[in-house]
Amino acid sequence: MNENGVCMACLWHEKKSTIDWEFRSQQLHRIAAWARSTSRSSWHCVLGVSGGKDSLWQAHQLRDHYGLNPLLVMYVSSDVTELGRMNAENMVRCGFTVHSIQPNPRIAVKLARKSFFEHGNIAKFSELALFTAPFRTAIEHNIPLVFFGENAALENGDTNTENPGWDASGIRYSNTLAGAAHEIWLDEANGIRREDLIPYTFPHASELQEWGGRGVFMGYFLNWSGWNNAVFSIGHGMTPHSLDYEDLGMHYKHHSLDSNNGAAVNFLMKYIKFGFGEATEHASYDVRANRITRKEAIALVKRLDGKCNPKLIKDFCSWIDITEESFWEIANSYRGTMWRQDTRGEWHLKKPIWYGMNDIDTIETQSVIERIDTIHRGQSLTPQESQTRRRHAIL
Ligand SMILES: [Zn+2]
Repeated sequence: MNENGVCMACLWHEKKSTIDWEFRSQQLHRIAAWARSTSRSSWHCVLGVSGGKDSLWQAHQLRDHYGLNPLLVMYVSSDVTELGRMNAENMVRCGFTVHSIQPNPRIAVKLARKSFFEHGNIAKFSELALFTAPFRTAIEHNIPLVFFGENAALENGDTNTENPGWDASGIRYSNTLAGAAHEIWLDEANGIRREDLIPYTFPHASELQEWGGRGVFMGYFLNWSGWNNAVFSIGHGMTPHSLDYEDLGMHYKHHSLDSNNGAAVNFLMKYIKFGFGEATEHASYDVRANRITRKEAIALVKRLDGKCNPKLIKDFCSWIDITEESFWEIANSYRGTMWRQDTRGEWHLKKPIWYGMNDIDTIETQSVIERIDTIHRGQSLTPQESQTRRRHAIL
């Protein structure tokens, strides 16, 4: 938050409207030309993908607008769902080559346990693999350019990164990855050996230097929105969640498809730690984009934030082999100071965002959701859009 109480994400949103996007797009064209002339491989670039809404849109942009031949590199989590697999398959059907790496699941479980116990963040170890795989693949295949999507540091105000906004090679300095060097995860007594951590070990500075390539965040050059990308991707065959909004704790079904059941649990952990969950995050994007009013956003938050289908928690517990009792014991040990516990032991936010708003329950949240539904929009594309879709889908 700045001195006026405005958060970094809102400041970034304001700043985006002052950026010369045409100029930045030209910059990206120049980078693309550089990659085409520099690459010693038949691939011009690597794009780190998850199979989700942003991946598919980015891949189409690189190929169809920037004239690149991208190799899509995907890290597959060891608890990947059927939905995650279907959406990876869909990227291939759209005419792309996907190179995927799924690290040893026995080690992944140990890392997930460690991540959850020691950091209260089950995604911490997998984020390492997510950023490592595209760079390692590019180095191995002599491909000079690596693309990622958004620079979370810019969007969320993680100011610890030492980069100018587009440079993804500096990603190893970010908060997400900082202190996450493989030394932290090394645990020989627990059967986590150095060689087990190769998929999670970001290339050394000297390896990057020898490779001589670049890592670039596309979000710096292109003014996109997750919502638009979702509409595009659903129109291009991406399958959204079939779970209910209450199961997911948010009002969209297009988010975090790529990852596992653990994703919803991770949102729950965020809610426990910081007092806001995934509904708050998406409702904030919706307010900034004028899709809904602030009051409607608050009603959505009240209905959905922090909700998580108990089955997803159960699945997560059985994956990392802990009881639900110990799950809650650990989760509660990370609870932030915005929570209070009542006499029956239940937790409540001391001052939720709807505090003092008596009329918030009069808002019909279901009709708000239907109005902004990306599934419906994605499935009702214009004739021109569906033509593009047919051209791209090799079925
Ligand atoms: Zn804000």
